[in-house]
Amino acid sequence: MAKKYNFYAGPAILPQEVMKKAQDELLDFNGIGLSILEISHRSKDFDAVITTAEAKIRSLLGVPENFTVMFLQGGASLQFGMIPMNLLKGGKADYVHTGEWAKKAIKEAKLFGTVNVAASSEDKNFSYIPEKFGFSPDAKYVHVTSNETIGGIQWTQFPDTNGLPLIIDMSSDIFSRRIDFKDIGMIYAGAQKNIGPAGVTLVIMRNDLLESCADGLTTMLSYKTHAKEKSLYNTPPCFAIYIIKLVMDWIEGLGGLAAVEKINDQKAQAIYDAIDHSDGYYRGTANPKDRSKMNVTFRLPSEELEEKFINDAKKAGFIGLKGHRSVGGCRASIYNAMGLDGVKALVQFMEKFAKENK
Ligand SMILES: *Cc1c(COP(=O)(O)O)cnc(C)c1O
Repeated sequence: MAKKYNFYAGPAILPQEVMKKAQDELLDFNGIGLSILEISHRSKDFDAVITTAEAKIRSLLGVPENFTVMFLQGGASLQFGMIPMNLLKGGKADYVHTGEWAKKAIKEAKLFGTVNVAASSEDKNFSYIPEKFGFSPDAKYVHVTSNETIGGIQWTQFPDTNGLPLIIDMSSDIFSRRIDFKDIGMIYAGAQKNIGPAGVTLVIMRNDLLESCADGLTTMLSYKTHAKEKSLYNTPPCFAIYIIKLVMDWIEGLGGLAAVEKINDQKAQAIYDAIDHSDGYYRGTANPKDRSKMNVTFRLPSEELEEKFINDAKKAGFIGLKGHRSVGGCRASIYNAMGLDGVKALVQFMEKFAKENK
């Protein structure tokens, strides 16, 4: 099979080593003669998986003691609703509007209370991260989207919220860089971009926020349920949690988040350099200082050329370069599991394509 380079935005590339390991153990997990797919979520073998996954998440990300880690379902999209349902209680929350994902989070929050859009980059088609915010002193929390997967913009530094808890959708850049938990009240991420397969959502919540959650909610939509039952109130997505555990082993093997961050910086630099040195053939859509290191969005001189680029790239083994249907253009998603070699190969292809398709 010819080598394929996977640039899909999500579900997305996983480390080959992780998939190989899962393949090796698929029929016989831990020598028990059964598959991880067919054992009880209350068995001691699965307990070791979920406990180890949590411990590694905590140590790699530097999660403080006073935070609870949960493995939930329903994707990041369910979090858009669960957050205000549990925390707003008819009050007010501040949201920073940076694109398609922030928009969906705002829409859900409006069902449960008052939303103050504290800043927005809609005036320039969501091509930048705002720098001035009108936070409300009485807001229950401030919500931001760490990396806008569709628009290709990313926060470098989160805003100073003056003590309000920051809630961050990190679906597309969690574990891509180190984070400082100082102002953070909660982070959450659908797994399928950087840390695993679809089906599990990682939620990490500060305990005082957890305790403040509304009572009387339907059981499955209450954070308190999942915190109390250690994500085992009902059957969790066992296999997806197992893959997260393997991805954490892989990140440890790379040297942890500082090492991952360094590689991601090099990858982003390589591809944005190629864009910037193309004499305007490729045009990055994001404000240079807010460019995402995970999702590189760019245009070509015409839509016809974009289509040809995507098709030729596919023939050459570069898969998933089409931009999101809502914005068009091209997008190269270069999550953790994409190596510098893959990015360099893409850069070479881009240079060749530009020369041959003036
Ligand atoms: C993909 C994505 C989501 C939606 O995730 P689902 O798991 O499909 O619900 C939300 N936010 C961001 C930033 C994303 O990239």
